[in-house]
Amino acid sequence: MKKIKQLVVFCCAAMLCTPSAFGWGKKGHTMVVQIAYGLLDSATKNTIHELIDHMSAEQAGSWMDEVRSDRRYDYMKPWHYVNVEKGETYQTGSTPNVLNQIDSAISRLEHRDRMSHEEVKKNILVLFHLIGDMHQPLHVGYGTDKGGNSVQVKYLNKETNLHWVWDSEIIESEHITLNDCLKRYNDLPKPMIERLQIIAPEKWMNQPRSLLSAVYNFQDATIDQEYADRNKTVIEDEIAIAGIRLAAVLNHLFKA
Ligand SMILES: [Zn+2]
Repeated sequence: MKKIKQLVVFCCAAMLCTPSAFGWGKKGHTMVVQIAYGLLDSATKNTIHELIDHMSAEQAGSWMDEVRSDRRYDYMKPWHYVNVEKGETYQTGSTPNVLNQIDSAISRLEHRDRMSHEEVKKNILVLFHLIGDMHQPLHVGYGTDKGGNSVQVKYLNKETNLHWVWDSEIIESEHITLNDCLKRYNDLPKPMIERLQIIAPEKWMNQPRSLLSAVYNFQDATIDQEYADRNKTVIEDEIAIAGIRLAAVLNHLFKA
């Protein structure tokens, strides 16, 4: 009986802990990969598919979240985000964080002829996931509240935290689809798309970070329908931008 009780407590704790700090939920990460794939020519896409053993967009985009429960990958836990306090600017360094790991995966893959198939695959999956994560504003947010994870809020009458609202709640409740994100992509002016394609992860964080004032724009720990409606297109934009940047990186690395 005691064991069952312990198990129940453990499962509840695991369920409570699971959602936090995951970056976009599965749906968001899948859309980032699908947008990127749509921007690649078929030869480049085939090369990548082979290198990742034909994983689906859904599996590939969320692989880094799937391995979180596997202790062998504990070293990757700090890779999903970077914390920079309010009013401060990012100081370049070698601490493992989302920026450094994107940089490092790109430079490793530039010299992939010396790498094993498994290493190449892992680094591609890291790029798929982290370029998505970086465009969730709370993954480039403030350490004081753990990127919104310790900000308890009521979202449409449900107790949750701000981070999870941005990871998944709005995407789910506003029914954001791939087509919505593609529509936002199609509305972007061509010169802007060209600017977005420049590979510079450290600069990339400025745009999602500039959204933090809007992210924290709510009162009484309550996030209402109006907030969700207002930020729906913001999320669609971020997913589209992440897809454009992921495609730029993949073209740089794998386009023949
Ligand atoms: Zn993540």
